[in-house]
Amino acid sequence: MKIRLIPSNSDGNPVIQYLTSLLIDQSLLIDAGSAGFTYKTFSLRKLKNIFISHAHMDHIASLPSLLEAYLANRLPPPTIWTSAETIQSLKLHLFNNQLWPDFFSLGSKELPWLNVRESSDFIPIELEGLRVTPIPVNHVIKTQGYMIESSNATILISSDTGPTQAIWEIANQQKRLDAIILEVAFPKRLQGMADLSCHLTPKTFGLELAKLKNHNPVILAVHLKPLMRSTIINELHKMNLDQLVVMRSDHEYCFPS
Ligand SMILES: [Zn+2]
Ligand SMILES: [Zn+2]
Repeated sequence: MKIRLIPSNSDGNPVIQYLTSLLIDQSLLIDAGSAGFTYKTFSLRKLKNIFISHAHMDHIASLPSLLEAYLANRLPPPTIWTSAETIQSLKLHLFNNQLWPDFFSLGSKELPWLNVRESSDFIPIELEGLRVTPIPVNHVIKTQGYMIESSNATILISSDTGPTQAIWEIANQQKRLDAIILEVAFPKRLQGMADLSCHLTPKTFGLELAKLKNHNPVILAVHLKPLMRSTIINELHKMNLDQLVVMRSDHEYCFPS
């Protein structure tokens, strides 16, 4: 399995991450924070399925541009998979003819402009050699993390979460676990803000990883707030965690490695 963090700015800086989009094996995208702004860096034709973990802007900001890119290139739209709650948010707050045209009702039955399917918690979805299981996590709005399995690798993606339970229970049931992409948004001194907004600091990041038994995966840290990035990294390094990598957008991560 090959994973890329899509860059979230145009100045070429591979470490600053304002927006979230993770491309998996070219055919699957987790979140559309930035992918629609930089879609020339990957193949729209190969990207067939997009999972939206939740409706926060840093995860959907480029979704309208991304859908327009499919239209402009006369390609059928990708399938957007997300929870019932996020579908409702997209209808109410984005594709509402106020912020953006109502893509839900545009196009034809054969070729809709927006092709959305509900992804239910714990129900695996089989797609082009990948199996994606949405798992509820603990964020301020309905959010799904994901277990993604291919024929020879398994990875876990937390999306945005505070301390949570189900993803670790499912991780502990897996035969193999190659990597975890885990958020760490704030430094320790902002623990109160992290708790209120349901994010992690290095302290709670470490406590979450301690819930993992029987596996020793690569830990890819993501969602570091740009202003506090160096402080968070210093705190992470002091914890001497095995196999910790802070994810960058100029590298392709391959599993099994
Ligand atoms: Zn969020
Ligand atoms: Zn976020």
